[in-house]
Amino acid sequence: MIFLMIIIMLGAPGTGKGTVGKLLSEKLGIVHISSGEIFRSYVKKQGEMGKEIERYILEGKLVPDALAIQLVEKRLCEKDVEKGVILDGYPRTVKQAIELDELLAKQNKKVEIAVNLSLSDNDIIERITKRRTCPNPECREIYNIEFKPPKVSGICDKCGTKLIQREDDNEETLKNRLKTYHEISEGLINFYKNKDILYTVKVNIHSENTSQDIAEEIEEYLEK
Ligand code: AMP
Repeated sequence: MIFLMIIIMLGAPGTGKGTVGKLLSEKLGIVHISSGEIFRSYVKKQGEMGKEIERYILEGKLVPDALAIQLVEKRLCEKDVEKGVILDGYPRTVKQAIELDELLAKQNKKVEIAVNLSLSDNDIIERITKRRTCPNPECREIYNIEFKPPKVSGICDKCGTKLIQREDDNEETLKNRLKTYHEISEGLINFYKNKDILYTVKVNIHSENTSQDIAEEIEEYLEK
């Protein structure tokens, strides 16, 4: 049993961070936290902050560091994170990574491994535009109408909720999200490479059972 494992999932949108992160969280018995999910939950509430966040998401831009750090760190101080966490989509900037290290250091913790999922932009576009998501916050299962369709079209296999296409999963917003990703990813990847905790996995969306395979590969790596 691995205790106090802090795992970062890096990678462009659509590389499978969410799916692999959820599988790993089940395997390791630690909580999976997605910064995108945190922000979407504020958007749903439609307060002033939610409306501001929504504008960034729909433009394919990052939520400004100060706000992103404040909201994610608040979540990281909750009780269920004590045993460890899979952080999906956070940090996204070097500033966030430095702040995260500082927060963890105060609790005598550190990031164990930063998993970097890599996939070509063409495959990302193919994957994301066909992605369907379960909006049930307790479930959040992710499907792909070509590679991983639900048994009944448009319905979540796990909880029966009607699946949605995320508003930012359209080609226009996606192009901006990829542009944003390429602008900032190198610095972040180097940040973890320099700490010698970067683990890169090349994703192949055309092979079967990819996310399961990747989660198993990472689990084996962690156990070594
Ligand atoms: P995701 O669900 O990870 O694809 O994130 C969806 C959107 O939420 C992104 O395109 C950003 O607008 C925002 N977002 C998610 N994580 C972060 C982060 N760590 N920093 C800033 N913005 C973020």
